[in-house]
Amino acid sequence: MVARVIPVSKFDLVLFGATGDLARRKIWPGLFHRFVAGQFDSDSRILGVSRSELTNDEFRDRLREAISVNGDDKAKLLDQFLSLVSYTSIDAKGERGWDVLAEAVRTDSVRAFYLSVAPNFFGPIARRLRNYGIATDESRIVVEKPFGHDLASAKALNAELRECFDEHQIYRIDHYLGKETVQNLMALRFANSLFEPLWNASHIEHVQITVSESLSVEGRGEYYDQSGAMRDMVQNHLMQLLCLTAMEPPSKFKPNAVRDEKVKVIEALEPVDARDIARGQYRASKEHASYLDHAGDPKSRTESFIAMKVNVANWRWAKTPFYLRTGKCLRARTSEIAVYFRNPPHMIFPGIDTPMGNILVIRLQPDEGMTLHTTIKDPGPGGMRLTEASLDMTFADSLAQDEIVQDAYERLIMDVIRGDQTLFMRGDEVEAAWAWVDPIINGWKDRNEKPQPYDSGSSGPEDALLLMHRDGRRWRPIGA
Ligand code: NAP
Repeated sequence: MVARVIPVSKFDLVLFGATGDLARRKIWPGLFHRFVAGQFDSDSRILGVSRSELTNDEFRDRLREAISVNGDDKAKLLDQFLSLVSYTSIDAKGERGWDVLAEAVRTDSVRAFYLSVAPNFFGPIARRLRNYGIATDESRIVVEKPFGHDLASAKALNAELRECFDEHQIYRIDHYLGKETVQNLMALRFANSLFEPLWNASHIEHVQITVSESLSVEGRGEYYDQSGAMRDMVQNHLMQLLCLTAMEPPSKFKPNAVRDEKVKVIEALEPVDARDIARGQYRASKEHASYLDHAGDPKSRTESFIAMKVNVANWRWAKTPFYLRTGKCLRARTSEIAVYFRNPPHMIFPGIDTPMGNILVIRLQPDEGMTLHTTIKDPGPGGMRLTEASLDMTFADSLAQDEIVQDAYERLIMDVIRGDQTLFMRGDEVEAAWAWVDPIINGWKDRNEKPQPYDSGSSGPEDALLLMHRDGRRWRPIGA
């Protein structure tokens, strides 16, 4: 199958934080990839902006290092791409460089401003974009995570942005929403008639959402220690996966129709009992130091692992819990949603009480795809025995390779240029998520709760296993 590339309109993309880590690793290579795919026209331009004083040529040399290419053809394409790129040095909190930027942007193209900078720059940059007449009522502004540290700070960021931009112009990135499988979850649910009739508490016994990482927080321990797994992963990425799994079908695939349904899920989340949460911190191993050493604080009570049982209090999900789990230094790097269907109400096969059950596993990484575990007859003579077999679809095998390797960032940037907010978080959605998360975090603080140590390379602390055992269930093995 050949991937269809739909060109976007001519644009001026202004990338703040153009010399930063995220820009170097994800945004610039992603933009080049879209250029190579033929998605933007040769009259589009990308204006890199950051604090360092660099000439256009010095900046382009940096990009040559960041975007590695093989072969003469790709090198030629990189030259063409770089001819669309220019650089301006600006002080985001002062007045230096803004006149130059105002001169550089054009009036006849889509204008998008990507703020790949720390959140304390969002307000100052938004105000200057307006004051210098660089942004118009049609411009788009993209902001990176973290969007706030708690409800109060998220509200303050929303207020700062809305002073200068309308909600329909603001694109809050959660790169998980740009993943192929996450969008496929919506296609699976709403473009097929097979699953949706079963997508409720009558047929689904429980759901497990796991985002595990094998790496430690080394190198960014001090930063991570201010946040922890709940803020860094659950409030945004896992919450988004939960919303897309649990939401009602929107009436159309339009930004506000989809986001309205996601907000309803967050608002239906019950407060979580402390008993239904397991928090952990990884110990030292042969390969690396402990979380406490990485955090630089021997008394840190920040969690590098969290598992929790979450109830969505509505008709569709009553008595069907969602178990969320995420952490660092775990057995494998994997992200998946596993939907456990109920067993058949009556077993006709003698001597077999419980079949293996149907589990639909939606994999985000590695190898984006889906697996449906089914129960079949064990082949061969010898009577009726049952065994498990999987229907497996790895997208890269089934679909166009090029579209699969497309990174979430490049997909989302093209959505910004198209003016499609469907895969971006709305302000009220972010605030609703913080309103649910804040009391949980405050409870830990009030009780001065200490996370339970766990071994690196394991599946997390014992409390996480007990959380499931108490309910007569088991976690899917990480990396299964
Ligand atoms: P970073 O490497 O520290 O880069 C920060 C950027 O901000 C640099 O380009 C820097 O320019 C620029 N900057 C700093 N002060 C400035 C000023 N006064 N005026 C103008 N520009 C200024 O940060 P990052 O890791 O790329 O992260 C950027 C944003 O993305 C943050 O909000 C972060 O939370 C988010 N994010 C990052 C990642 C990641 O993997 N890195 C992942 C998810 C989200 P100079 O280099 O010229 O000083």
